[in-house]
Amino acid sequence: MTTILEQGNISIHTENIFPIIKKALYSEHEIFLRELVSNAVDAIKKLSMVARSGEYSGDISAPEIEIKFDKDKKTLSISDTGIGMTAEEIKKYINQVAFSSAEEFITKYKDSAAEDPIIGHFGLGFYSSFMVASTVEIDTLSYKEGSEAVHWSCDGSTQFELSASDRTTVGTTITLTLMEGEEEYLEPARIRQLIKTYCDFMPVPIKIDGEVVNKHEAPWKQSPSSLTDEDYLEFYRYLYPFQEDPLLWIHLNTDYPFVVNGILYFPKLKPDIDITKSSIKLYCNQVFVTDNCEEVVPRFLLPLRGVIDSTDIPLNVSRSFLQGDRTVRRIADYIAKKVGDSLKALYRDDPAKYIASWQDLGNFVKFGSLNDDKFKEQVKDILIFRTTAKLGDGEEAAKVEVQTEEGDAWSEVTDNKPATDAKGNFYTTLSEYLERNKDKHENRAFYATDEVSQATYIQLFKGQDLELLFMDSFIDTHFIPTLEREYSDVKFVRVDADLDDTLLDKEKQSEIVDPATNKTRDDEIKEMFEHAINRPRVNVKPQALKGEGAPPAMVLLPEEARRMQETMAMIQQQEMQFPDDHVLMVNTGHPLIQNLLGLSQSTIISADGGSSPAGDLAKMICNQVYDTALMAQKGFDANGMKTFVERSNTLLTKLTER
Ligand code: ADP
Repeated sequence: MTTILEQGNISIHTENIFPIIKKALYSEHEIFLRELVSNAVDAIKKLSMVARSGEYSGDISAPEIEIKFDKDKKTLSISDTGIGMTAEEIKKYINQVAFSSAEEFITKYKDSAAEDPIIGHFGLGFYSSFMVASTVEIDTLSYKEGSEAVHWSCDGSTQFELSASDRTTVGTTITLTLMEGEEEYLEPARIRQLIKTYCDFMPVPIKIDGEVVNKHEAPWKQSPSSLTDEDYLEFYRYLYPFQEDPLLWIHLNTDYPFVVNGILYFPKLKPDIDITKSSIKLYCNQVFVTDNCEEVVPRFLLPLRGVIDSTDIPLNVSRSFLQGDRTVRRIADYIAKKVGDSLKALYRDDPAKYIASWQDLGNFVKFGSLNDDKFKEQVKDILIFRTTAKLGDGEEAAKVEVQTEEGDAWSEVTDNKPATDAKGNFYTTLSEYLERNKDKHENRAFYATDEVSQATYIQLFKGQDLELLFMDSFIDTHFIPTLEREYSDVKFVRVDADLDDTLLDKEKQSEIVDPATNKTRDDEIKEMFEHAINRPRVNVKPQALKGEGAPPAMVLLPEEARRMQETMAMIQQQEMQFPDDHVLMVNTGHPLIQNLLGLSQSTIISADGGSSPAGDLAKMICNQVYDTALMAQKGFDANGMKTFVERSNTLLTKLTER
């Protein structure tokens, strides 16, 4: 029988914290394991420190934490090879220090309402074990020479018992006799899962049934130079299994004026991304805290993934307090700046990679610019657009020059030639584009949003040597107004919005063809189409287009009206309907239109009141021209498609009649 060395009362400041520990923290029961394992890790670290200082000469080569279960006795025990405690230390650290910190935590926690929870639930420490245990025992032997092993036990009342123990190895075992209803913690699978969540990267091997169950190495604590790309990718795949590989990553590493370590990854951004949720994991000294750290990471960086580890983020405070915390705000600024700097450095050091990832990376940069003015300033010069511009013979793609130093403006690409990627696509910044094109169309930026459906329009611009930017990512619609605010003189015009004067053939001015009515040829073409297609909301606009390849007609959606429609569709969360109000631009310079006018006029002359075959044909062709133009704009509904196919076949039949 063990002799009881001492019995006593744990000093009490508030009435009795145990019932509160047991009940008030109900939903957070599982964190007891994190607390006990953290203490074990600390104890092991302390022992290696005293060994290094020469105060301890025992073996510290195989530190470990072992978790054991005894289903019959309903016990769970956590053993460490740490520093251990003497009876005096137990009295001091467990009865007083641990108790008072738990008490302080509980007082705070009680005051913070459930809707404003504590971010990390740190602070409860050792006494969190009473959330799940009816009795807690400590069996420990201090490293100090001549120490005697001691056994402490407490049944959840304020009474404790201290006795001698027959333990012979330095270290501590905490044994919990689980309360009724807490049997889940007797299941190795449940404990493994908790270890994976909270203790995976704690720097000591944790064993269950003789097997190490945690990773115990935290890549973010290693020096970036010791990690290969594959190491980073492997870590990402470990954190986010079954996900596409990230585009790139940033290793955060600073000690001053605050400690932040971490690795942030840029995943591919999908249009359905939830930009309010973070999936960055927050750690404190390799102990998992939470995987929603919206309060710590700037909002626009929430789509990033990875790990942030900081001991300077206060954890036993409420989330709303955290948002206002000065250090946290500075950490957030630091992260944002680091992200901007890394992107700039990448553009400078490896433009090919930057450009190659731009399609996805661009979404971050734009999203960030939309949400954070400081970031917008930081990245505005590495914001690039794919362009239709080509290099001239013998010209070389622009050399990229960026300086990432604080306060230093980075030098502009001076020769205004677009940079290129491996696939031969060219990229340019907006200011380069404007500079390059200022003689042709000052302060107007032309853009295309869909290379396929806008192919006719793009062709027309290319044919006239007009440079277009591709704004084809899902974020661009929202981004263009931001750019227009930034470059207040510049107007963005989509290829299908309006035809720039440079595309029109001014020499083919419409001459007056009927002195009696003062009608021009354009008026006649307009009438012919209006009459044929019979859609009052379609504005028929005859114009002469330059160039051989220009189509006979195009459907145009004026920029302002289209944007309004897009916004409406977005608000209503619907797909944009093709607007009934649009422009049918008829190319008066095209032979088909000229022939068509001839055909319809010959009909009028020979008309005897009724419809003539030639008149029918002219009308049918007008509709066919309109439909073909619509089709190039994706403007067909099911009925329109049916009519188009039927009419095409009728027309072909007529053309083959002899
Ligand atoms: P904290 O860890 O925040 O100091 P705890 O209540 O968890 O608070 O623990 C109080 C103290 O008890 C610790 O600071 C440490 O001195 C001691 N302690 C707890 N667990 C162990 C252990 N496994 N080995 C050695 N000392 C321990």
